[in-house]
Amino acid sequence: MVFSEVKKVVKFGGTSLANAAQFVKCAEIIKSEKSRKYVVPSAPGKRFPEDTKITDMLIKCYELSAKKEDFSGLFNDIKDRYNSIIRELSLNINLDDEYKIIEEAIQKGATLDYVASRGEYLNGLILSAYIGFPFIDAKDVVFFNEKGQFDAQKTNDVMSERLKHCENAVIPGFYGSLPDGSIKTFSRGGSDITGAIVARAVMADIYENWTDVSGFLMCDPRIVKNPRPIKVITYRELRELSYMGAGVLHEDSIFPVKLAGIPINIRNTNKPSDPGTMIVPAAEDYDTHDIVTGIAGKKGFAVIRIEKDMMNQEKGFGARVLKVFADMDMSFEHLPSGIDTMCVVIAHSEIKGKEKEILDNITKAVNPDNIEIETNLGLIAVVGRGMIRTPGTAYRIFKAVASENINVRMIDQGSSELNIIIGVDEKDFDRAIELIYLEFCN
Ligand code: ADP
Ligand code: ASP
Ligand code: MG
Repeated sequence: MVFSEVKKVVKFGGTSLANAAQFVKCAEIIKSEKSRKYVVPSAPGKRFPEDTKITDMLIKCYELSAKKEDFSGLFNDIKDRYNSIIRELSLNINLDDEYKIIEEAIQKGATLDYVASRGEYLNGLILSAYIGFPFIDAKDVVFFNEKGQFDAQKTNDVMSERLKHCENAVIPGFYGSLPDGSIKTFSRGGSDITGAIVARAVMADIYENWTDVSGFLMCDPRIVKNPRPIKVITYRELRELSYMGAGVLHEDSIFPVKLAGIPINIRNTNKPSDPGTMIVPAAEDYDTHDIVTGIAGKKGFAVIRIEKDMMNQEKGFGARVLKVFADMDMSFEHLPSGIDTMCVVIAHSEIKGKEKEILDNITKAVNPDNIEIETNLGLIAVVGRGMIRTPGTAYRIFKAVASENINVRMIDQGSSELNIIIGVDEKDFDRAIELIYLEFCN
């Protein structure tokens, strides 16, 4: 009987491949296990906090060229960064022809997506030469439809067929191609998505996502000092946290692996022996003693508060309110409501400048007793599969923030019981996250 081998897909983020020393670490990780067969690199990221990511430098070249300004100095800096990696790794490759093609394309008005994608493309060529895995251009295996949407079916069909015949490969992250062959990228941070797509295509046993933190932390380390890493988190919890701004993993990278039930392991390139975070399909299989798995948040929201006595008895009230937003082509985030109040929480950027129109339209639609718009709202999501069976979680969240007189301006318990969302004034945002963290982690 033939046992199928363990297969891992490994994605390395920008900081993991920022310079030659980081390349060495990645190669050691790849070579330390034969199962690490398919590698998805990002473009070189920041080498130190004030540094600029290659992707941002490329985007700047595009912008300069669009304004008919000289971008050759900046483009030379990009070449220097790649060339120093090639030199320090003593690689026997020369990318001059590639640079020339890209530079000329920018001069001739290449699209932003093409230009931005070249960071991953060039890095993939270098990594392929360094570790000796064949290079597969993502444009030949990742596809978007004519509307620019990711074509999961075609991608999976073509990529799985192609990789069936490859023992190993380097596939650059972040981009693919449109039906006419031109380059299209995912949104920023999209190499995570490519990694997940490759994992699905080869039916990997695990998708390892190597970054610069030892896993998903309970909160953003820029807000809370040294938060605890999360050992195990479910896809659904992670999606809630990523959506609410926890930036480690692109929010759309869950779907491809979820479809195939493949776990994701977030790992630290700089501390490879740390176990990191396991992201797993189903909650039931991974019981937890923790009530809260993680806390994340986003600023920049507004809440439109509509009050009307007996609104609960008025048929179609909610539908008429929502139609106002649909007609104005606006999408809302949350809809917490009480017996006589309904709140629509929406990104402030969506409604800016249209406040009066919204108030007029809602007044026309439902004739409320009172209606107001409050801005500067920060939303904080407290997420945990352990909350489902633990009464009193909302009380503890309130108690934590009330201990410093922080006012909760809105509350919404997600229909899944997996999360509780509170809205606080933006000035209280960081401290509220810290207080909630301390309440559940001490
Ligand atoms: P990569 O370049 O490897 O894709 P990213 O910068 O996209 O890495 O994501 C890792 C970063 O996410 C960390 O360095 C950290 O600053 C930030 N981050 C935000 N929220 C969290 C969190 N809850 N846990 C861990 N890291 C977080
Ligand atoms: N290099 C791209 C970015 O900076 C994609 C990625 O890093 O995942 O957004
Ligand atoms: Mg990232």
